[in-house]
Amino acid sequence: MARRGSIQGRAGSRDLVVAGWIPINMLDWDGRLATTVFVAGCNFSCPFCHNPELVSAPAHPATIPFATLEEHLALKAKWLDGVVLSGGEPTLSPDIFLLARRIKQLGVGLKLDTNGSKPDVILQLMEEGLVDCVAMDVKAGLENYPHAVRRPVSVDALRRSIDLLISSGISHEFRTTLVPGYVDRNDALNIAEIVAGGQRYALQQFNPAVTLDPEARDIQPYSSGYLRAVAEDCSEFLPTIVRGIG
Ligand code: SF4
Repeated sequence: MARRGSIQGRAGSRDLVVAGWIPINMLDWDGRLATTVFVAGCNFSCPFCHNPELVSAPAHPATIPFATLEEHLALKAKWLDGVVLSGGEPTLSPDIFLLARRIKQLGVGLKLDTNGSKPDVILQLMEEGLVDCVAMDVKAGLENYPHAVRRPVSVDALRRSIDLLISSGISHEFRTTLVPGYVDRNDALNIAEIVAGGQRYALQQFNPAVTLDPEARDIQPYSSGYLRAVAEDCSEFLPTIVRGIG
């Protein structure tokens, strides 16, 4: 697996900082050749988070110049399909628009991975034509969010982001990691009903190897068969796929 580096550069008079990157991968954007850029900081604290080092922005050192990313993108632009902005939660970054504009200026596509908590940011990115694809995580059944993300959350904001994507006309998907104790079949079905009308729903297998809360590493994932059966049930609402099973 590609190693994450760290990138920083200048944003006007401030440093433009991202927390890391994977120069080339085919996993984060439907098999497209993409560079994944990680932005540190998140407003949620999901115990099952598999990027715990990115949840707290101040704790993450960034040491590689932003120019390194631009140089890489310029060099590979001819055969690179795009950049995936991931995190953490990229929409929290005060530099999100600058970052997106500079990436788009290089002539490559941009996919946003988001937890959907900032619909105004998603809307502005869409209105400026800065995003070509959005993947929104729906972490749990909406009534279970405080338990799943361990932070205050605006369900109205989540619903707004969901509605924005469904009506956007741009490529998008909703996705949920099925974690025993947090998200089960009934939750997934409730979510599928809420995001019905969307292009795709992706159910993801939980990987306990790295988690934000060490106790979550003791959770035994659902079986592959369970995920497949849930996906089949969710398919009644919208096309549903499974990721992360053998
Ligand atoms: S899994 Fe949760 S805590 Fe981790 S980056 Fe995503 S929203 Fe934030």
